[in-house]
Amino acid sequence: MALVTLEHVSKSYPAAGRAAEPVVAVDDVSLEIEAGDVYGIIGYSGAGKSTLVRLVNALEPATSGSIRIDGREITGLRERELRGIRLGIGMVFQQFELFEAKTVRANVAYPLKVAGWAKADIRARVDELLAFVGLSDKAGARPDQLSGGQKQRVGIARALATRPRILLADEATSALDPETTQEVLALLKRVNEEQGVTIIVITHEMDVIQSIATKVAVMDRGRVIEHGDVFDVFSAPRHPSSRSFVGTVVKGVPSPTELAVLRERHEGRIVTCSFRDGDARQARVFLDLAEAGLEFELVYGGINDIRGRAFGHLTLAVRGDDAAIDRALVAVSQHADVTEAR
Ligand code: ADP
Repeated sequence: MALVTLEHVSKSYPAAGRAAEPVVAVDDVSLEIEAGDVYGIIGYSGAGKSTLVRLVNALEPATSGSIRIDGREITGLRERELRGIRLGIGMVFQQFELFEAKTVRANVAYPLKVAGWAKADIRARVDELLAFVGLSDKAGARPDQLSGGQKQRVGIARALATRPRILLADEATSALDPETTQEVLALLKRVNEEQGVTIIVITHEMDVIQSIATKVAVMDRGRVIEHGDVFDVFSAPRHPSSRSFVGTVVKGVPSPTELAVLRERHEGRIVTCSFRDGDARQARVFLDLAEAGLEFELVYGGINDIRGRAFGHLTLAVRGDDAAIDRALVAVSQHADVTEAR
């Protein structure tokens, strides 16, 4: 049984003005998140990612559909019961949301105090958490004395305080520089692997998905348009909208503007070949073009690595007789996915 199951979940907000339509922020989403997953939810801004997470965290009720956490239906539960559910779910935020006037220790202790833990237990648990996130020496510091990465580590320690089974991270590294992002991602990975916490990450950053996610769902206009294994979704997105979003975050896919520049600078037909795993087939592509007597040059490209598996995109300007190019591209498509810029 999945740890989190969403079935036909929708959430709409009432129209803001008289002429306005209601906003369907989440539209008929069905998704299963297994215990132990690091599940990435990605998509353009406004796609409905944060709303979806607020539904899972029971901060807002869904308009329709079913949400089960560990087999328990949470739609329709009363506030008191929801509080219990929320204790089992930790939240980490982009802007950390720490109490600026409280010490690091008091920040991490806060959810335990709310949950009514005894003082001595709180002390021991906070010590353990600060050691886990590497901030034992900062227990007495206040947030404004910490770097962004340290603040987020406090945020993670606080989120883990009540030993939740699920951690929701909403753009948790988006306010951090690339190096600090890696440090926080490494910590989240340990949270998942060492503490067995299931993590749901909302992000628009490729780094996050690449480093820690095992599965991913792509959202667009309230819907989950594609989901599955990270490598599969990123190396060969099927849905046109996920292809467009994934194209903006993976390396080697020229944007429409870059394509226009390439077309201006290079003669011939502009063809992008996409490869998954193994390099041998790239050589086959070059051979096919050469054997067809075509001239070609590499004009754009990039290789991505997702936990040791590679995929990439090479864009070529191909020159020669049109019919010969057509025939060669049929041969090439045996070894790579071929898209031609029109
Ligand atoms: P994302 O997290 O992908 O950027 P959101 O879930 O924040 O997207 O928003 C999805 C859509 O729902 C947007 O059109 C947004 O304006 C709308 N929305 C989100 N929250 C509310 C709200 N409380 N009231 C009205 N509309 C909202």
